[in-house]
Amino acid sequence: MDMIDPFGRTITYLRVSVTDRCDFRCTYCMAENMSFLPKNDLLSLEELDRLCTVFIEKGVRKLRLTGGEPLVRKNIMSLVRQLSRHLKSGALEELTLTTNGSQLSRFAAELADCGVNRINVSLDTLNAEKFHAVTRWGRIDKVMEGIDAAQAAGLKVKLNVVALKDFNEAELPEMIIWAHSRGMDLTIIETMPMGEIDADRSDQYLPLSLLRASLERQFALTDIPHKTGGPARYVHVAETGGKLGFITPMTHNFCESCNRIRLTCTGTLYMCLGREDAADLREKLRASEGNELVADAVDEAISRKPKGHDFVIDRRTNRPSVSRHMSVTGG
Ligand code: SAM
Ligand code: SF4
Repeated sequence: MDMIDPFGRTITYLRVSVTDRCDFRCTYCMAENMSFLPKNDLLSLEELDRLCTVFIEKGVRKLRLTGGEPLVRKNIMSLVRQLSRHLKSGALEELTLTTNGSQLSRFAAELADCGVNRINVSLDTLNAEKFHAVTRWGRIDKVMEGIDAAQAAGLKVKLNVVALKDFNEAELPEMIIWAHSRGMDLTIIETMPMGEIDADRSDQYLPLSLLRASLERQFALTDIPHKTGGPARYVHVAETGGKLGFITPMTHNFCESCNRIRLTCTGTLYMCLGREDAADLREKLRASEGNELVADAVDEAISRKPKGHDFVIDRRTNRPSVSRHMSVTGG
């Protein structure tokens, strides 16, 4: 039975945050001193596989692993390998992941071998010092090695860049030219108010409508009508021949075509990235060996998928509108 929500949207896309931990501390994503979930709360890789399989049986066709940093979860490749059986059987169309690239040089070849065709790599600047400043702990040369390894293994790479006011604004044209010259599409993401961080989010926020206008002074951008069901809008860049995406949760409401749900590493299902309502599947998963209880809980959760979200960055209180961090639900 397909999963169809009360607004007629068929749910075919699952994002799974396999860990809330990360080897970076990006300033817009995490505080420097984060407290992470106790390891005992995590689903085992076998439980994650079981849950994902329930979702695939219920009509999920695209599955993205994310985090935290998915590639720092111990033994993560055993999960990828397990899930790849659904690619072979044709039940799953796509298995992919979003990564910061730090561990990619170790895993790229094996990912390709498991049938992963494309991945998203997050990279907010090409400048080594700025990279270290924004990630707090990261080294750009490792990420560059990772991107090289991914391309060498035949993986298609898309870059995700978070637009940060006064940080990478001026550098974006150069990043677009660089990415496209290497055959990578690039998507620019607006910052979302998720979780307490050390910085003031309203200082980081750069509306993409302004950014697009400034890019149009340098590039000829043509809208590409094709829609992915996801939040990105794409344009073709005449000068580079590449594709550029914009994800604008703050200035554009993309909810009407939302086909996705999100699962955390503790088995909590979020029906919307921008809302607090969730369903605990871990208890149901552990309550019996069969999957019926979980499947029923999923149906019940889908019947509560909200029409949309309501992100705001509140300047007066500087409180995030969603208290959990992006690393909990995954990007
Ligand atoms: N660690 C992996 C990575 O960085 O690609 C996967 C998880 S990360 C949470 C997924 C994506 O969310 C990244 O592209 C990151 O830049 C983005 N992100 C994190 N916090 C965000 C925020 N508050 N607003 C917008 N994007 C955010
Ligand atoms: Fe880690 Fe990704 Fe968050 Fe950066 S954006 S801290 S790499 S989870």
